[in-house]
Amino acid sequence: TEAYLKAMEEARALNAYVLETPDIALDMAKESDRRIASGDTGHLEGIPLGIKDMFATEGVRTTACSKILENFVPEYESSVTANLWRDGAVMLGKLNNDEFAMGSSNETSAFGPVVSPWRRDGDTTPIVPGGSSGGSAAAVAAFLCAGATGTDTGGSIRQPAAFTGTVGIKPTYGRCSRWGIVAFASSLDQAGPFARTVNDAALLLRSMAGYDPKDSTSVNRPVPDYEEAVGASIKGKKIGIPREYRVEGMADEIDTLWSDGAAWLKDAGAEIVDISLPHTHYALPAYYIVAPAEASSNLARYDGVRYGLRVPGRDVVEMYENTRAAGFGPEVRRRIMIGTYVLSAGYYDAYYLRAQKVRSLIKSDFDYVFSQGVDAVLTPATPSPAFGIGEKVKADPVEMYLNDVFTVTVNMAGLPGISVPAGLSADGLPLGLQLIGRPFEEETLFSLAEVIE
Ligand code: GLN
Repeated sequence: TEAYLKAMEEARALNAYVLETPDIALDMAKESDRRIASGDTGHLEGIPLGIKDMFATEGVRTTACSKILENFVPEYESSVTANLWRDGAVMLGKLNNDEFAMGSSNETSAFGPVVSPWRRDGDTTPIVPGGSSGGSAAAVAAFLCAGATGTDTGGSIRQPAAFTGTVGIKPTYGRCSRWGIVAFASSLDQAGPFARTVNDAALLLRSMAGYDPKDSTSVNRPVPDYEEAVGASIKGKKIGIPREYRVEGMADEIDTLWSDGAAWLKDAGAEIVDISLPHTHYALPAYYIVAPAEASSNLARYDGVRYGLRVPGRDVVEMYENTRAAGFGPEVRRRIMIGTYVLSAGYYDAYYLRAQKVRSLIKSDFDYVFSQGVDAVLTPATPSPAFGIGEKVKADPVEMYLNDVFTVTVNMAGLPGISVPAGLSADGLPLGLQLIGRPFEEETLFSLAEVIE
């Protein structure tokens, strides 16, 4: 814990942490030492972790990296973080993210961008760590924690993991409790871990996962010992390669990596089959209707009364307006506007309802391939390696949204997906591959990812 706290201090320029909690960390570490001395240890005993600032932490400021929550100190602990502490983990601090987890580069945070510890060969341009869990990805990659929590609504664990050479898994919807996590799009949000190895990710997920009566969408199933799956044989596993993921504009090196990944799995005994997921093309537009719709409704609670910031006005309505205008950044406002538009009378059927129908079709694409015996689907995690800070932010927002083309389908279908480091780009930046599994078959993903790692 002391070594990590020192590393955090020396790496403040990365802006990965928005709050360091050294006193809490040292107290928790001492208690861990006591438990170790008495032989009563949890399976994460003494492991120092960083927590994405979307998780409510009791008595510790939690902001979602938004000005509107700048002074919010929760009186409760999220179920996922409570599970980690129950098993002996130590909290080092709260990690930066895109405001309300809306973004793909960690550039929408009210605390400013996170800088990836990676650079292109022979180039000093600061690189984005991806988003929205950019602080988690950068902190794990730069050894500023042993592991971290993330949330993934449309790729926010898997894309930053790919951009930073770390492992990130979004479990099946319902596997981890959403209780105490700041809500973005409730039907898509899932928590998951970031780690430097597949084995560490398996260890962390085992603690994070589990039924929670406080989240009605959490699923009451026993949590397997995911570590057992790491290193297990993948002989005879059927891996689907979906032709629709060969999208226009995808870098050649990503295509090559994808074929390499299939070859590695084949060498380890898997069977590779071509598959079709015909509605893939509609996933991104449908996601960018469903997610903002749910966000606009979830964000209605930030009214200057119940949480965080309040900017006074002449009456209550003006107070709402002033508070929300001052508290939400441009990307969050854009989402609220899109969301309220697609939900409004006259447009609901044309946009929201249609997007929900597309969502069902995306899910049935996966259901069909799984019914044909496919155990997992292999795709690139992102269409390109990480980009420079500021390089995409001024462009059309749609260009940023295109980053999520391979990850959003997984949230729309509620499936588990893992991103595993698989190689480097020509200019020396990490590249990741994604494996998508059947519902609640995270073990298969861990076994397959271990082969690629
Ligand atoms: N980049 C996507 C978005 O901005 C995904 C975010 C996420 O998964 N939290 O909505």
